[in-house]
This record gives sequence, C-alpha cells and structure tokens, in this order.
Amino acid sequence: MNHLSAITISIGDELLSGKTLDSNNAFISKQLDMIGIPVIKKIIIGDIAQDIKDSLDWAFAQADVVTLTGGLGPTHDDITKSVLCDYFEVGLKLYPDLLEALKDRFQRRGFKFSESNASQAEYPENAAVLENPYGTAQGMHFKHNGKHLFVMAGVPREMEVVTTGQIIPILSQLTQKSISKLDIHSIGVPESTLYELSKPVLDEYSDLKIAYLPKQGMVTIRVSFPAKSLDDDQQLEDEIYGRVRDLKPKNIYGRDEDVLPVLIGKLLKQNRATVATAESCTGGLVASLITDISGSSDYFKTGFVTYANETKMSMLGVQEQTLIDHGAVSEETVSEMLSGTVSKSGADYAVAISGVAGPTGGTEEKPVGTVYIGVADIKHQNIKRFQFGKNRILNKEMSAFSALNLLRLLIEDTNQ
Ligand code: AMP
Ligand code: MG
Repeated sequence: MNHLSAITISIGDELLSGKTLDSNNAFISKQLDMIGIPVIKKIIIGDIAQDIKDSLDWAFAQADVVTLTGGLGPTHDDITKSVLCDYFEVGLKLYPDLLEALKDRFQRRGFKFSESNASQAEYPENAAVLENPYGTAQGMHFKHNGKHLFVMAGVPREMEVVTTGQIIPILSQLTQKSISKLDIHSIGVPESTLYELSKPVLDEYSDLKIAYLPKQGMVTIRVSFPAKSLDDDQQLEDEIYGRVRDLKPKNIYGRDEDVLPVLIGKLLKQNRATVATAESCTGGLVASLITDISGSSDYFKTGFVTYANETKMSMLGVQEQTLIDHGAVSEETVSEMLSGTVSKSGADYAVAISGVAGPTGGTEEKPVGTVYIGVADIKHQNIKRFQFGKNRILNKEMSAFSALNLLRLLIEDTNQ
C-alpha cells in the first residue's frame, strides 16, 4: 500500500479547555511524517462517547490510519475503551498475563489492587495489544475495513514509547517507503528572497519536496525526497546542503539538529574556547539559549545582564562619557561592553547587545527595533547595527539569534 494518510484524534476535556496543551498530536504527526504518512487533519474532542464515535466515522471516511490518544485511565471519565467496544460491537477480553503483571506491579509498590485496576488487563476482543512498558494502559491496534486504528494512553511518555516502539514499525512495513529529510537553517534572509535564491538549485533535482518554514524571523528550508539507501541519501543531502549554503554562507548556517545554539556549542568545544555575554535589551536571552544546550558549562563562562546605564558602568566598565555622548544604544557603548566582558570574564569570545526592543523608547535616529550587536575575541571586534520590527518579543529573539550568528562567523573566521 502506498500514499497512506492519517488523522489524529486527541481525547480529553483538559485539552479542550486549554489546561493541557495537546502535544501528543504534534509528536505523532512528526513520527508519521518521517515514514511518509502525512497527517491530513487533526481533531480534539472531550471525553464524550458520541463524539468519540462520530470522530471515528469521520476519520475512517477520509484516512487510512487513525490514531486516538487519551481516556484510557482507570477512572470514570476515561471511557475510550468501552466506547470502542460499543463502536466495534465487541466485548472485552481478559489477558491473564497482563493481570498478573498488574498485581505484581501494585504489590511491589505497596498499593492495594482494586477492581478498577483490573480493567487495565482487559481489551476489546478485536484489538491487538501494543505493549506499553511505561504504564498500565496498553496500546491497541484495530483493523477495520482495511484501515488502521491505533489507540494509546494520553500520558505523553507512554504515548511516545508506544508510537515509536510499536506503531511506527507496523506502519513502516505497510508503506515500504521512507522519506529522507534535510533541514537547512538560515537567518536574516526574508523567506521570499530565500525562495528565489534557492529555487534554481533545488529545481535541478527531481522528486524533491520543498517547504519553507519561517520561525522567529528565521527560515528553515525543509527538503524531503523518497529514500533509497542510507549512503545515497546521505550523499544527496550533503550535496544539496553544500550548494544551498554556498548561495549565502553568512546567513545559511547549518542543517538538521544544528540550530544556532547547538552549532555554537560544537564550534566552541572543537576550539576549546569559551564565551561570555553582556546583554541589555535581550535581558539574558542569549545566555539562556546558549545554556539550553546540555554540556554548555564546558564553554559558557558568564552572562551579564546590564539593563541600566549604572550597571553597564559598574559591571562592565562602560564610560559615563560614552553613554552621554552616544547613548546606551550605540556602537560605542557596545564596543565598551565587549571589552568589559572579555576582561571581566576571561572568556575567549564575547557577545554584547544593546537596542530598543520597543514598543516605546524609539527616536527618529534610533527607532524601535534598532539594535547594536557585537562580538569580539581578544583581538577583534565586529559590531553591526540591525533594524528589526516593532514587536518587542520578536525583537529580543531576532537580536539573540543574530548575535549567535555573528558569534558563529567570528569563531569560523578566526579558526580557518
Ligand atoms: P488519559 O489517558 O486521558 O487518562 O490522560 C493521561 C494524562 O495524559 C493526563 O494528564 C492528560 O492530561 C495527558 N494527556 C492526554 N492527552 C494528551 C495530549 N493529547 N497531549 C498531551 N497530554 C495529554
Ligand atoms: Mg483523559
């Protein structure tokens, strides 16, 4: 069978009210997408029997694969299993092995075993049970008029292990087609420019599916194609990445998992170098992004958040006269922030940022979104003026990522 499509159903009143974010849907979609089964629609419903049945009808009418998560706990509001029995007009079957395992589990933990717990050993007669090593509600696989329904507990950890461990292997065999995927990351180039720039190169290859995915003012080009062999796929990915990157190497910086904070970590580790930050308008975001990466203590020394003029002076040694003459948002101030950061921290590289995040505080000369971003090592400084937009949060994010990109260029430059 080829060209399968899927619909995901999430069940839970808490998902509708927004108390819990429906992350299961996103996880399942990504997993299915990787084996070439696109999710064409998603639905969230409450723990209501008729709604569950209606959604199953609706989903089976449109897709070959349907997933359903939630409502499998032992409590009264978890009705999915009994609804499925109703829907397929079957009874429950007791799995004695599962019952023993459940009793064992309760005994080991010193809990009393009750009737409602025993229900976790019963599954609809027409279901194949999919092992859930992390919990007591097993997954289920139903075949229905040539279509597939997979049912899982809502607990994300349990849903994830059943999806990757059981469902994906079953479906991979059905599709016999897997998709190779390459993500090419860029910063500082508008989506339309990137499209026009990369189109001639990407058009040379047949069978490529291209998506431009903008986020936080950055764009990732997602290239996917039918997989052949591991070596062939790798070679094609390397070639495409190399050619696209060479179109704008200052802005097209990495691939796949190498987003900027990861890449910076790799570069600093490779060069046994360290970095420190001095931030004004980004309020510590650069430091936060760098330290999102596990192992960053190897290369991140310190972060100064010098929001006020006084602290720019007291913590980094910025001169009062510089602030009076040029203002806090200026090349001169950022330059002194950089020198101060290098000397106070002893790091090999420094990043400094000062800007007008907005929405207020702009002037004619320095409107909202004006940000000076600098990077330095012991010998060089590179400071650039950026003009971002009017959105405060986006300005902070764009400033932080642009700073990381400048840092990447400086590290690559000094280590050529
Ligand atoms: P249930 O299987 O409905 O008893 O859900 C068990 C736990 O998983 C609850 O804490 C739910 O809030 C959570 N959960 C259920 N469905 C989802 C979902 N789609 N995304 C994230 N969490 C969920
Ligand atoms: Mg629930």
